[in-house]
Amino acid sequence: MEGEHKEKVYKCAKCGYEFTKEEMEELESGIICPRCGWRIIIKLRPAYQIKSVKAL
Ligand SMILES: [Zn+2]
Repeated sequence: MEGEHKEKVYKCAKCGYEFTKEEMEELESGIICPRCGWRIIIKLRPAYQIKSVKAL
């Protein structure tokens, strides 16, 4: 599936919960785990992707 916007880009170092940038931003308390509140977060991949552009 192309154009998936809500990609899980962060992972909690404690409980292993993976979540999206949007989920984290809803917390309004910085970079923490939405599930357990742990502050050590692993970044899985860039929040943006370089898309291949089709020739017109
Ligand atoms: Zn967690």
